Amino acid sequence: MPVLIIGGGIAGLTAALSLHQIGVDCRVFESVDAIEPLGVGINTLPHAVRELSELGLRDKLAATAVATARLAYYSSHGQRIWAEPRGEAAGYHWPQFSIHRG
Ligand SMILES: Cc1cc2nc3c(=O)[nH]c(=O)nc-3n(C[C@H](O)[C@H](O)[C@H](O)COP(=O)(O)OP(=O)(O)OC[C@H]3O[C@@H](n4cnc5c(N)ncnc54)[C@H](O)[C@@H]3O)c2cc1C
Repeated sequence: MPVLIIGGGIAGLTAALSLHQIGVDCRVFESVDAIEPLGVGINTLPHAVRELSELGLRDKLAATAVATARLAYYSSHGQRIWAEPRGEAAGYHWPQFSIHRG
């Protein structure tokens, strides 16, 4: 009996790839007729990159993403308010990828 996944967003597609990887049959049901890229970005944090790496996608992500090393906030006058390291710069085994959502 196949696993039915309702919704082909990041969660649904990652679940489908993970099931496929371990040999479990699944079907993804998506309500929109065509998946189209949005013009916005997404930060995939190390725990997310870990899962995508397990699916063999790390090199493909790295080819189009920025491996973010630092998150910083500045005032409108350019004064640094706060900053912290991210991804491997913060000691994680996986990077943080800032990537186009499409
Ligand atoms: C502006 C913004 C910025 C964000 N930035 C980040 C970020 O930098 N980093 C981060 O980790 N997260 C970020 N998030 C959160 C992240 O985008 C969501 O947590 C993530 O996309 C959720 O994925 P999902 O697959 O659960 O849901 P969705 O991506 O919402 O996918 C759900 C899918 O299910 C489909 N669907 C809905 N109902 C049905 C139905 N009845 N039958 C069939 N299909 C259906 C929808 O069409 C859709 O394709 C951001 C969110 C927003 C709004």
